Amino acid sequence: MKSTLLTTIILFLVQLTHAQRDYWQQRVEYTMDVKLNTTNHRMDGVQKLIYSNNSSDTLTKVYYHLYFNAFQPGSMMDVRSRNLPDPDRRVMDRISKLKEDEIGYQHILSLKQDGKDVSYKITGTVMEVTLAKPILPKTKTVFDLKFESQVPNQIRRSGRNNREGISYSMTQWYPKMAEYDFQGWHAYPYVAREFHSPWGDFDVKITIDPKFVIAGTGALQNPEQIGHGYEDAGVQVKRPTGDLTWHFKAKDVIDFAWAADPDYTHDIAKVPSGPELHFFYQKNEKTSETWKKMEEYAVNVFEYLNTHFGKYPFDRYSIIQGGDGGMEYPMCTLILGEGTLAGVSGTMAHEVAHSWYQMTLASNEGLHAWMDEGFTDFASSEAMASTLNETTPPHQGSYASYFSLINSGLQEPANQHSDHFNTNRAYGTMAYSMGAIFLEQLKYLIGEDLFYKGMRRYYNTWKMKHPEPNDFIRIMEKTSGLQLHWYLRYWINTTKRIDYSIGTLFEKDGNSLLDINRLGEFPMPIDLMITYKDGSKELFYIPMNELMGNKVADSKEIKRTVAEIWPWVNPTYTLKISRKVSDIESIEIDPSQRMADVNRKNNRVSLSEIKSYSDPTK
Ligand SMILES: [Zn+2]
Repeated sequence: MKSTLLTTIILFLVQLTHAQRDYWQQRVEYTMDVKLNTTNHRMDGVQKLIYSNNSSDTLTKVYYHLYFNAFQPGSMMDVRSRNLPDPDRRVMDRISKLKEDEIGYQHILSLKQDGKDVSYKITGTVMEVTLAKPILPKTKTVFDLKFESQVPNQIRRSGRNNREGISYSMTQWYPKMAEYDFQGWHAYPYVAREFHSPWGDFDVKITIDPKFVIAGTGALQNPEQIGHGYEDAGVQVKRPTGDLTWHFKAKDVIDFAWAADPDYTHDIAKVPSGPELHFFYQKNEKTSETWKKMEEYAVNVFEYLNTHFGKYPFDRYSIIQGGDGGMEYPMCTLILGEGTLAGVSGTMAHEVAHSWYQMTLASNEGLHAWMDEGFTDFASSEAMASTLNETTPPHQGSYASYFSLINSGLQEPANQHSDHFNTNRAYGTMAYSMGAIFLEQLKYLIGEDLFYKGMRRYYNTWKMKHPEPNDFIRIMEKTSGLQLHWYLRYWINTTKRIDYSIGTLFEKDGNSLLDINRLGEFPMPIDLMITYKDGSKELFYIPMNELMGNKVADSKEIKRTVAEIWPWVNPTYTLKISRKVSDIESIEIDPSQRMADVNRKNNRVSLSEIKSYSDPTK
């Protein structure tokens, strides 16, 4: 007995330590010193980048993103926007109308690798660098780069003078090393959306006119020279004369963003179980009430997410009034500030949840936007529903958009790069709604308790890494003891649909025999609720063979009967109910409505609607 127990413990420990695939990731350490001229909106910058090649490949080239170059007439972003049937209304043809002093650009003045000049070629938003010497596996190299940029008029995410009057939204603002991973280089041109970048550390000094307040990623290193609200945190401020240099540091992040405005108010709040929250906004009649209330909501959202999805890993987070809509960055977000309380706080919650799904679990959001936007939508909808004590199911809207997309005929498979969808609508519904439904259905498949356990295990296993779809589903398989790969393939790789219907009801030897039909190509295990005339309920669970097991019941209050397996190839299934037909009041497939059944009209029948008869031959 003893040795068996020991063997079991050893096997368990081995399993724990081998929770991940053979995994490596590149690393970056940026030191930047930039000066922003607020008269001509140009920036001079010096960047030192220590790049660690942790792959087993020898690299002879590297690629940088030069995102500001997207904001020029004729850029890929401009052309794509003018050719989509449903362009983002923030972009439309606005890039094509930018004048010389309104465009964005990033000019490379010099680039050296370990002190030697390298050659490079810039095509739009991507710079291809031919190295002076190859970077061998498991070695480091140092790039020294000098650049000069012009901050574009605000079009999308980054830029100056947005419609709410925020001076600078400095996102995607520096020459940024592209990610190299097991799939090779991801030097995607900046067409519309989604980013993928190496993990690393940032040490950033920003020099600017002293009347500006800067908010952004990381922790301010010199609050005693800054003021601007930091006095409230107990800092003795002694400001130097002339231009002010703001010094920030951030560790283990995938990006660095900032914003600057002379009229920012700076408020601070504390989340009991987590970070210090910093709010930067222009305080006026359009913002003061909503932003004060939002402070309370933000604290709640962090508490909820810490409890359900894993603990936020940094000690601070900033919510900054900025460019357009809302966009997530490490340790901060830039959101529009002047909307309704519901609008502004909904955006805040969404961007905050990105701190889990993207800023900690940094999936390749270009390729798997559903893991980024969808998981974020899922978590923030639940956090806001809890904050506001809402009674409507938090993911109802996601199901509605999914059904509506199907009716439009525009649905495309989820597993393609975000920029390559034929319409913004197909992309949006796939990433946000289908991503959220993917999780809600997973709850249906494995049971609620194991689902949240799995989400936290996924977070703790893969934080500060780049998890792939398979990594996520494997964690859920290990947590639930069920096979789930089939589900990932059907939902993400295909546009197959779920549709089950209730068929006829027979009676034989005092039992009822119910036919259920699979009308869609997408198989699922079935929860089926029978309500009897005496008021009692019975939940039948019909396993599907692909899961190779049964989920744990969500509720112990309702009697659950596990029925025979339904092999996925069978279009019809007959369920035996040990009661007479005359005892049955109503029958319902998936009473929780978590299964994305495209036709729910045929899921529920009351007895008067059932075509029932006794069939002695059956
Ligand atoms: Zn998002």
